[in-house]
Amino acid sequence: MYYQQTIENKVTCLGVGLHSGKKVRMTLLPAPADTGVVFRRMDRGGMEIPASALLVERVDFATSLARGETTVKTVEHLLSSLYCLGVDNVVIELDNAEVPIMDGSGSPFVFLLKEAGIKSLDKPKHYLKILEPLHYEDGDKWIKVLPSDELRITYFVSYPHALIGEQTLTLPINPSIFEDQIAPARTFGFLHEVEYLRQKGLTLGGSKDNAVVLDESKILNDHLRFPNEFVRHKILDLLGDLSLCGIPLKAHIYVHKGGHNLHTKMAQMISSTIDSHEMTLIDDHTFALPLQQPLA
Ligand SMILES: [Zn+2]
Repeated sequence: MYYQQTIENKVTCLGVGLHSGKKVRMTLLPAPADTGVVFRRMDRGGMEIPASALLVERVDFATSLARGETTVKTVEHLLSSLYCLGVDNVVIELDNAEVPIMDGSGSPFVFLLKEAGIKSLDKPKHYLKILEPLHYEDGDKWIKVLPSDELRITYFVSYPHALIGEQTLTLPINPSIFEDQIAPARTFGFLHEVEYLRQKGLTLGGSKDNAVVLDESKILNDHLRFPNEFVRHKILDLLGDLSLCGIPLKAHIYVHKGGHNLHTKMAQMISSTIDSHEMTLIDDHTFALPLQQPLA
């Protein structure tokens, strides 16, 4: 039997929002079973925003959630770390609208969660096994979800840059593989886009300290953490976006030239199907979701 988990102690960090450039204090608090992951905007009277695919608001350059006028932005790296370390229940207090970017990767959040400690609760944990393939495409970009007994990702990226080019990576996902091979991969951006993004009010807090920055031929940082850090970061983003389904998946997910839009569309498809279908418990800890009709 698998049990739901939360953190053992509250833990706080300070940082800056990648896009807003604003300072933010974030505190993670233990939460009882079946709470899920809930953001709480302390500067908005404690307004709560559950981490749900049905509350996705913006997906350009980061994933943001909204409930009415209240938003929480750039949630994906923190959510990815919670999901892959198996923290099912936690309250995330923020005193501003954006999760701190830290060093642009998931590693500072993994460190924070380990500092807090992870503990089991007395309720069983359930997974969702996808029995029928799912597919969503947007031009030459696509995401496919195929049945599998474990969570496994295959990701393909292609950028016309000498340091990136085409990168493909397949990995099973568990806490140690996540911590060693996915979490350290940093977000990345192109110098020629910075001016345009800043005019749109994006990447105001971005720098070499929290992103891999590429000019026409090289990176401005000292070194890459992996030769294929770019595709690894895309997997980090994907896992955070898929966590918005609210239940861990057993599936092999293939992504071709993806981004937050594609990832969150799939999370929304799965979430709305969960809402409208009876799920079958196939063993102690696995629901199965037969997806008979096309979802598009
Ligand atoms: Zn990212």
